[in-house]
Amino acid sequence: MSERPTFRIVPLQEQRHVDTLPTPTPDWYPQQGGVHDSLQRPLRDLRISVTDRCNFRCSYCMPKEVFGKDYPYLPHASLLTFEEITRIARQFVSLGVQKIRLTGGEPLLRKNIEVLIAQLSALRTPEGKPLDLTLTTNGSLLARKARALKTAGLQRVTVSLDGLDDSVFRKMNDVDFPVAQVLEGLQAAQEAGLGPIKVNMVVKRGTNDQEILPMVRHFKGSGMVLRFIEYMDVGATNGWRMDEVLPSADVIARIQAEWPLVPLDAAAPGETAQRWGFADSQGRLDPDAGEIGVISSVTQAFCSDCNRARLSTEGQLYLCLFAHQGHDLRSLVRHGTPDAALQARIAQIWQGRSDRYSALRGTLPPSSDSSARRVEMSYIGG
Ligand code: SAM
Repeated sequence: MSERPTFRIVPLQEQRHVDTLPTPTPDWYPQQGGVHDSLQRPLRDLRISVTDRCNFRCSYCMPKEVFGKDYPYLPHASLLTFEEITRIARQFVSLGVQKIRLTGGEPLLRKNIEVLIAQLSALRTPEGKPLDLTLTTNGSLLARKARALKTAGLQRVTVSLDGLDDSVFRKMNDVDFPVAQVLEGLQAAQEAGLGPIKVNMVVKRGTNDQEILPMVRHFKGSGMVLRFIEYMDVGATNGWRMDEVLPSADVIARIQAEWPLVPLDAAAPGETAQRWGFADSQGRLDPDAGEIGVISSVTQAFCSDCNRARLSTEGQLYLCLFAHQGHDLRSLVRHGTPDAALQARIAQIWQGRSDRYSALRGTLPPSSDSSARRVEMSYIGG
């Protein structure tokens, strides 16, 4: 009998050990404006993956052939507890983080996620301001959970939705999940006040690009912001090919042909999306029609002002979505490291950061292609 190959995606981790822990000195602590990395990018945004599991099997993220029933998901003991997450998040906030996004995997699968949200919503920036606390979800459990999430202190949600046509959507999620339930989730989130809601559509040429215009038609004027994401070469399992990427410029051209658009300024520094409003019959911005966005992670890198750090489900700190290695914060937390030293270590890691994979992607020689070692998005958090 021939042996069938099995795929095991083992997240790679920082091999250096805790003995590199710096002694906190006053210059570790953030000056006005927080810490900056070696390219002068501030630390502002923390994405926390709360589970590496998902109930969808989108082929661009967690393809069924790899993430089958024997896939070695993280055991429960490896997951950061809510208290550990909150403690780590507090250090990040002291260092300048203003926005926290919970992600995964599917974050609403994590049991009692509302408890974590309540803990995080109590955090305050050094200036005493509440955080921008948000969550990215596939929307499958949102109809049931929206109200409880809002009550716990969540401010808003981003919902991933790759098409409106039921058969296209079921094919994209690859678990036969009906689009109607995600639309119900969106409505529940809107009614619960979890806005402004963003709706993210990953566009794969030849798979769901015919859904671009129906999506714009549906969300225009709804109060929700629709954003188109270029299909990315993240992870090592999705079989990414450049010819399946539909560049954002083409997305905008297709929309412009139907609805003239007006470019808008970025809402915040380091924002990933380029924003567009709809023009009225005079060519001026129509304030009632809302806006759309494009996230051109492949064709127009936005590394130069990337201010995002990512904390994996088991407490590895990653400095880039395309990183190979994380920095182990969980062992610091579990070995009794005091807050000041934990904060100093995070500052040290951020100050040493020089990652800018997307900007370099096109310039790297093929021999340097290390995609096979990249961590999966479901593990690091999208
Ligand atoms: N389960 C949640 C969800 O569906 O939104 C959160 C995690 S998911 C990894 C976060 C986002 O990453 C989703 O919008 C998903 O579509 C996007 N994503 C995953 N793989 C991607 C890829 N290869 N290219 C572009 N976006 C991707």
